[in-house]
Order: sequence, then structure tokens, then C-alpha cells
Amino acid sequence: ETVQVSQLIESALKQGEAISGGQHSFVTDIDPRIAIQGMETELSSAVSNLITNAVRYTPKDGTITVRWYLNDSGEACYSVQDTGIGIAAQDIPRLTERFYRVDKGRSRSTGGTGLGLAITKHIIVRHNAELQIQSRLGVGSVFMLRFPKSRVRLQDC
Ligand code: ATP
Ligand code: MG
Repeated sequence: ETVQVSQLIESALKQGEAISGGQHSFVTDIDPRIAIQGMETELSSAVSNLITNAVRYTPKDGTITVRWYLNDSGEACYSVQDTGIGIAAQDIPRLTERFYRVDKGRSRSTGGTGLGLAITKHIIVRHNAELQIQSRLGVGSVFMLRFPKSRVRLQDC
């Protein structure tokens, strides 16, 4: 199945803006021509998980930047950058473990089960994609999904 990822991103952004309730700025740069050979329901949840996290872990007045583009090697990249609370270096490798949440006390107040990134990672692996996480505590995070060229379907629109 050829999945119009840009449409999934647009609807995830609408959800994200609803959760934000106008407290965050959203910046987007999305190439509608890039589609992916994959499973729509799975890609939809991976795409929206990262946006939901960005909203949830970014305080009021923060900025969330979402991009969908081809890199120089022809891989399709989805990046979600936030100016939120960030993640300490030692916690980054554990984020995709089931039920792992960085700060139990803080997490209790923000809700969530700690499954989002574990599910996302699983979906990513099934699509031969990679998840890259860069973060600095108190500065913000970038979560990037990279799909191999072999999965990219370019459409003219
Ligand atoms: P769920 O997604 O199941 O509702 P969750 O958001 O806690 O719950 P994950 O999405 O798996 O679970 O994220 C795991 C943990 O990683 C979070 O609890 C949070 O501590 C940290 N985290 C995830 N995304 C971000 C982010 N953008 N900025 C800072 N911390 C993050
Ligand atoms: Mg989550």
C-alpha cells in the first residue's frame, strides 16, 4: 500500500494543535510528493505519537517544528523538533522500552502510559526505517524517522 504520509502528518498536526489549545507555535515544512510503501494505520500512529509527545513535553509558548523531506541520500525524513523539557543523555537509549518514562513523578502529572515510543519503534523497524533522537535537557528534542530510498514513492502533484 502506498501511504500519503503528508496527509497523515496534516491530520496529526490538527490533533496536536487541539491538544495544545493554542499554547504552542507550530512551524511546518512538508513535501506532499513524498509517499511511502507501508501500512497506513501503523504509519499514522507513529507520525502522531511524536507530535503528541512534542506537545505534551513542551511548556506553554514553546515551538514545535515538523518537517517531511528527502535528504541528500534520497531517504524520506520525518522530523519533529520541540523547545521542550528535553531528555538527559543517559535516558535517551531507554525511551523506546515499554512503560519507560523519564521522571515518574513528573510523568504522573502529565498522564500517558510510556508505550508510545515502544510502539513507534516497533512500527519503524517493520518499515525498515530508523529512529534517531537528539535532545538536551531544558533545551528541547528532535525525533527523526528515516525511511530507506527503497520505500520512497515520489508522486507528482
Ligand atoms: P504514552 O505515549 O504511552 O501516552 P508517554 O508519552 O509517557 O506515554 P512515550 O511516548 O513512550 O510514553 O515516551 C516515553 C518517555 O519519553 C516520556 O514519558 C517522556 O519522559 C519522554 N519523552 C518522550 N518524548 C519527549 C519529548 N519530546 N520531550 C521530552 N521528553 C520526551
Ligand atoms: Mg507518548
